Amino acid sequence: MLQRLCIFQRVVQPFIWRHQETTKRLVPGLPTALPDGLRAAGHRSGSSSPNVTERTLIAVKPDGVQRRLVGQIIRRFEQRGFKLVGLKMLQVSEDLLAQHYCELRTKPFYPSLQQYMTSGPVVIMVWEGYNVVRTSRTMVGHTNPAEAQAGTVRGDFGIHVSRNVVHASDSLEGAQREIKLWFQGKDLLKWDCCDQTSTCEDEES
Ligand code: UDP
Ligand code: MG
Repeated sequence: MLQRLCIFQRVVQPFIWRHQETTKRLVPGLPTALPDGLRAAGHRSGSSSPNVTERTLIAVKPDGVQRRLVGQIIRRFEQRGFKLVGLKMLQVSEDLLAQHYCELRTKPFYPSLQQYMTSGPVVIMVWEGYNVVRTSRTMVGHTNPAEAQAGTVRGDFGIHVSRNVVHASDSLEGAQREIKLWFQGKDLLKWDCCDQTSTCEDEES
């Protein structure tokens, strides 16, 4: 059942969203905006302006919370110029984790990954900004901290793949799926950052 849901989320849903976007663009007068929770990741405006509303899901995993790294991780994303639009702390259920990591459920390391990820609270965030999915993967670093470059979160705070401190969505489609899984649209805030035009060209200009 979960596997079928996963295939739907990975393959069919992005297709439907893309199709909806195309249809809306072809029909004059129809708004192109999606509901707030779905809008950002993967959405591109028709112009060459940078998409400053791209969104990604970042999570501080239980080891990061236990080691009091939440503040330092948030600081890195703020410092880079990204905008925090959603934040919550929770204890992850096995079911939610299985949906989040639906592609990994058959991997030999999944039982220990599940034990690790449900061992304590996690902090889940949605960050917004130009190219945020790709940039945050770079900021987070290689999956295996032993391979991660110094200066990345995993390269600075981790030593082993089984305790790699943080999660970051790996693609626009992945971000869209994960954001929808962890947050309701109403829990993601749309707000103007006072320094927005200092960090990126204005979308309207
Ligand atoms: N993981 C693990 N052992 C492995 C590979 C992955 O414990 O050999 C865990 C690790 O916590 C990783 C997560 O599974 O972050 C998800 O794996 P993925 O390949 O998606 O890496 P990521 O996208 O987190 O870099
Ligand atoms: Mg991944």
